[in-house]
Amino acid sequence: MEKREFRAESKRLLDLMINSIYTHKEIFLRELISNSSDAIDKLYYKSLTDKSLDFNKKDFYIDISIDKNNRTLSILDTGIGMTKDELEENLGVIAKSGSFAFKNENRSIEDIDIIGQFGVGFYSAFMVADTVTVISKALGSDDAYKWKSSGADGYTIEKADKDTIGTEIILNIKSNTEDEYYDDFLDEYNIRNIIKRYSDFIRYPIKMELTKS
Ligand code: ADP
Ligand code: MG
Repeated sequence: MEKREFRAESKRLLDLMINSIYTHKEIFLRELISNSSDAIDKLYYKSLTDKSLDFNKKDFYIDISIDKNNRTLSILDTGIGMTKDELEENLGVIAKSGSFAFKNENRSIEDIDIIGQFGVGFYSAFMVADTVTVISKALGSDDAYKWKSSGADGYTIEKADKDTIGTEIILNIKSNTEDEYYDDFLDEYNIRNIIKRYSDFIRYPIKMELTKS
């Protein structure tokens, strides 16, 4: 297992997300589903030009599952996946897309506006999760890798088992506090509503497994 530190900028965004007082924390799901959709797009367009790839429309989907006992919410996609290097590059360094640029030292109200208006991306998962695990297998790779982080300390990366191409993001949902009822993110009905509210336009099926008990 390899242990790595986040870059300084990533650390700041991560701290901001972990300690977020933003009221619409549920937007993390919009961010993760949009990443899944982007990843499926990439595989889909590749399959149109690369005749050696034989994909069917039904092969492309996003699957959400809740495990209340283990306090996990998982988002799986059948997208293009990430190699080990891509996991490091894409998840270790943030704001590459420029959606979240740090312009000054005075965070708070301004940042909160940014969270709502623009995508803050993958790290928004840390608003609701204390540990985030990403298991991914890239198109053309024999090996799958697991990226795992519990916040600003950094992340680990190691080989993992995954048969199919794509990515699974497993969120360990935070425990309830006096101010925040995180159990809402383990509630199927609530999750369904969040998906309807923010991800209705996604062009791939979003499936949801029944709660494991
Ligand atoms: P953005 O989507 O704006 O690029 P994010 O923080 O949401 O920023 O994601 C960072 C990068 O991580 C993405 O650009 C993509 O390369 C990679 N990524 C995130 N989620 C997935 C996924 N489910 N499948 C493949 N790549 C992903
Ligand atoms: Mg994104």
